[in-house]
Amino acid sequence: MSGYSLFSIIKGALTGHSHWERAWSRPEPKNAYDMVIIGGGGHGLATAYYLAKRHGAKSVAVLEKGWIGGGNTGRNTTIVRSNYRLAANQAFYEHSLKLWEGLAQELNFNVMFSQRGVLALGHSDGDMNRLAERGDALRLAGIDAVLLDADEVRRFVPLLDCSPGSRFPVHGGLLQPRAGTARHDAVAWGYARAASALGVDIIENCEVTGFELAHDCIVGLRTTRGPVSTRTVGVVVAGHTSHVLAMAGLKLPIESHLLQAFVTEPVKPMIDTVVMSGVTHSYVSQTDKGEVVIGGDLDFYPSYSQRGALHRIEEVAAQAIALFPALGRLRMQRCWAGIMDMTMDGSPIIGRTPIEGLFVNCGWCYGGFKATPASGQLFADTLANQRPHPLINPFALDRFERGDVLDEFGTGATPHLH
Ligand code: FAD
Repeated sequence: MSGYSLFSIIKGALTGHSHWERAWSRPEPKNAYDMVIIGGGGHGLATAYYLAKRHGAKSVAVLEKGWIGGGNTGRNTTIVRSNYRLAANQAFYEHSLKLWEGLAQELNFNVMFSQRGVLALGHSDGDMNRLAERGDALRLAGIDAVLLDADEVRRFVPLLDCSPGSRFPVHGGLLQPRAGTARHDAVAWGYARAASALGVDIIENCEVTGFELAHDCIVGLRTTRGPVSTRTVGVVVAGHTSHVLAMAGLKLPIESHLLQAFVTEPVKPMIDTVVMSGVTHSYVSQTDKGEVVIGGDLDFYPSYSQRGALHRIEEVAAQAIALFPALGRLRMQRCWAGIMDMTMDGSPIIGRTPIEGLFVNCGWCYGGFKATPASGQLFADTLANQRPHPLINPFALDRFERGDVLDEFGTGATPHLH
């Protein structure tokens, strides 16, 4: 139960739900903080929480231009996994998955982490070779991965169309049993509540509109709620990174694209795992409420609108029905889009910028929800010690200058496997 006693729930019910305590306080912004996090998504809130919890930081603010979790954190399809191919990604995402396994206890908040498994489908012999190789690499790194043949997939996901005449024949799949889903809003709320309890100021409706610099060092911020002095800033604004950092004179190798998600009307349990298909560019799971969640590929035009286009809706529906014909009987209930911070190699950028005291955490592309706990914990360590944590060293901004890119080619943040 998410931090409320049975007594307080009964009291709430008997008093018309009018006396609930605020989960996090709503302070006015102060004139100065030791550290400021720009962006109240999961990553920004987690950073603030770990700064207070693990580093004893006493003067931290999170400035959010809208509301907590209103960005990609509250818009994603909630898949959590660590089945990457490259060593740097494996170390980082497996660390994150381990944090997920204890997150509800850590925050005393039910984030509904459900280890129902994530299955990546293979639709050809070539796909199966790549999945087998990825499975070997994962097991060598101590990460769980099970290669399934076509029969095993059919038994594991009975509603999947595994018939010989299917549009996308199923040759098998790679299952990560410890992977799964979590409730995205709960992650933002849980971190916000825990950070606020440790004294972090969470300030919503406060947009950062400029940076104050002196001799290439950060000394303060301009916001819609007044100036704030500070010497350490973490920019954690996902799809808004390019234009926020442009205000500090920095240009990042990032494009902002739309990614849509869809939910059907709720139905009885029909899919009890997460199924991903790189070839069809779609992935399907079912929420605890019964809605089937469907995701696809980018809309492929840069935009800040948070609304997707019709062509992608039609395509995603067609692909999902090709995999699960039974979905054709359901009504699509809602769709929405998030603004993705796409890097050129599909991997995130975390660490220093050329400006002293200004740090960045962005470039999560399709896959940053699963990174939330590790990103927050390691970014907090980076800000507290003013140097990158060793696990995030490979994600430095200057890797593009050095040519040391991290491209998973289909396994990771680049195409389709969220
Ligand atoms: P956000 O939650 O976007 O937070 C950034 C915040 O910064 C926003 O709240 C914004 O309002 C604020 N901000 C921006 N500019 C300013 C400013 N000037 N001043 C103050 N505040 C500002 N990842 C997975 O791991 N698994 C998935 O299944 C998955 N599916 C996805 C499906 C969709 C449709 C989308 C859109 C994304 C998906 N992702 C997935 C990616 C994941 O959602 C993101 O990578 C992650 O949530 C990013 O979190 P964040 O905290 O960095 O960003």
